[in-house]
Amino acid sequence: MAPTDLPSENDMANPYKSPQADDALDSTTTSELRRAAPARKVKLKCPHCGHNLKGATTAMIGDLAVCPHCKAEFEIRPPYMTYEQVPWYRRSGVNSVFILVHILTGGCVPFILWTCVNLVTGDIYYKKKDAAGDLETWSFANKVVAVAILLVNAIVLLLLLLGPSS
Ligand SMILES: [Zn+2]
Repeated sequence: MAPTDLPSENDMANPYKSPQADDALDSTTTSELRRAAPARKVKLKCPHCGHNLKGATTAMIGDLAVCPHCKAEFEIRPPYMTYEQVPWYRRSGVNSVFILVHILTGGCVPFILWTCVNLVTGDIYYKKKDAAGDLETWSFANKVVAVAILLVNAIVLLLLLLGPSS
């Protein structure tokens, strides 16, 4: 067995690491965080089912993980350390305004769909930090509502497209 085939310390430390994880991407942030010692605990949630994966650290960032709950495979992304690092469209304040605009215009400006897509593809972050120092995120219940809204809109759109053209 070639030395490169031996599992690294990282492999041993990551209980969620997927077997095909070695082509994981390596951005600057990723390598910076990997170098940072000692590894800091990070909040890790399955993006597919919202299951909390305990014991994740910064050393695992960039790896592919397998959710023990729904078996989905996903990349462990670096967490945002400050609200300023969060892209504007994933900030809680911006998305609250989107929802407000949607309501005030009676849905004529359907910004809420943008918020829903954000929630389904990732998290929306509060400025507030939790006890561990991580930014708090919108709850999983919000994601469920977002999926429901998107489904309803997709069905309405489909009915409009398939409707009688008389
Ligand atoms: Zn899952």
